[in-house]
Amino acid sequence: MGLPIELTYLAASILFILGLKGLSHPETARRGMIYAEIGMFLAIVGTLLHREIVSYEWIIAGLVVGSLIGGAISIWVPMTAMPQRTALSHAFGALAASLVGVSEYYRHGGLELGTFKMTALSLEVLLGGITVTGSLMAFIKLQDWIRGTPITYRGQNIFNMTLLALTVGIFLYLIFDPAAHALFYAMAGLAFVFGILLVLPIGAADMPVVMSLMNSYAGLAAAATGFAISNNVLIIAGTLDGFSGFILSILMCRAMNRSITNVLFGAFGADVGTADSGALGVMREVNAEDIAVQLAYANQVVFVPGYGMATAQAQHAVRELANMLEARGVTVKYAIHPVAGRMPGHMNVLLAEANVPYSSLYDLEQINPDFSATDVAVVIGANDVVNPDARDNPKSAIAGMPILDVDKAHSVVVLKRGKGKGFAGIENPLFFKPNCGMLYGDAKASLIKLAGAVQNS
Ligand code: NAP
Repeated sequence: MGLPIELTYLAASILFILGLKGLSHPETARRGMIYAEIGMFLAIVGTLLHREIVSYEWIIAGLVVGSLIGGAISIWVPMTAMPQRTALSHAFGALAASLVGVSEYYRHGGLELGTFKMTALSLEVLLGGITVTGSLMAFIKLQDWIRGTPITYRGQNIFNMTLLALTVGIFLYLIFDPAAHALFYAMAGLAFVFGILLVLPIGAADMPVVMSLMNSYAGLAAAATGFAISNNVLIIAGTLDGFSGFILSILMCRAMNRSITNVLFGAFGADVGTADSGALGVMREVNAEDIAVQLAYANQVVFVPGYGMATAQAQHAVRELANMLEARGVTVKYAIHPVAGRMPGHMNVLLAEANVPYSSLYDLEQINPDFSATDVAVVIGANDVVNPDARDNPKSAIAGMPILDVDKAHSVVVLKRGKGKGFAGIENPLFFKPNCGMLYGDAKASLIKLAGAVQNS
């Protein structure tokens, strides 16, 4: 490869690394995205100018179709459907990697491929295949096209492991006998089947972890593509993608106090015992006027957003209420749980959209000691992340998951539509505590009502 293209790839790789670094903090995330976009642009233009292009027409056609689909998705897919969107992107990316692998194999007929190239190519097709169907299954489950709860049957894990062992066995055989065409295509087919079977027993609640794992597989498939077609930028970008996806999966599991194996094979959410809510007492309903008085005369108020804030698109309404309280001298903070919502950073993104200053956002470790000095904790469509059972009841399905200790505030008000459960599908004893009041209704409507009542108080 010539020096100019290598320099272009080096610049692109540096921009990818800067992009990832930027994404590690909300304040620098936008800049990080811009770096990564410029890096990708450089890599594509560099490749197109350097390589011997057989047909620009097809590339332009692909670019137009891809841009139209991408543009439409970015305009019409709401923030709440971001997990589905991400699942589809992974499926498309992995499909591209698998197709490159199959076409390379077809072109060479497996014959002139040495051990190294054959290993890379088979790995690309194997990981790519699993990711395509696994991500599509994740999309289908998240979109509620099939039930989101785990689909299980007797001997499932043994069957899946046997299938995986068979696929990996073929992969190893191919390294020594690359010309075994039928086996190559059988391996590709089995990888596609395995992707479906892998995700079937995983509940929709665990889909974000699955997707970040799929992201990791897609990255590794891209890196393998780089080895197979001798493209350095694919190797670097794929490896970055592969490992950052894997690290993210581990961080998410840690925030839920679960292991990766429990997520993949535990069928979490299939049969969750729910506490008898009668035994917990009664939920106390409150009205906006009473809560508004408490808010208006508080020293410190902590907003605790969760998935319900995202569905209600209530981020602007929270900001307006917060502005009003701050104008009255109330200290306002936002408590951000690492797995609140449905994607890592979900709450940060929404609050940033409403221009909530980063300095007002507090992590779990920072805010928990502060709840005892908080007059009112306002829980906005959060449920599992404020469930004290995770802390107090070792038998709970979410036992050990770190939670926001809102129950330690002097007063708690929970904004939700009704008695719906959270993603883990379990009862929340917080709602029955004497210091907790329930303000029923859509979160955005309730916040607007609260703001009106604060103004009049
Ligand atoms: P949650 O436990 O799913 O609870 C959301 C609550 O919002 C529901 O109880 C629902 O009650 C309420 N709600 C829904 N729409 C609403 C609306 N329009 N207005 C008001 N309330 C509304 O949410 P969470 O506390 O944010 O917890 C996140 C869950 O997702 C955790 O179990 C976490 O482990 C899981 N998870 C997250 C990630 C991640 O990366 N963020 C990854 C994997 C898993 P009603 O139906 O009564 O309104």
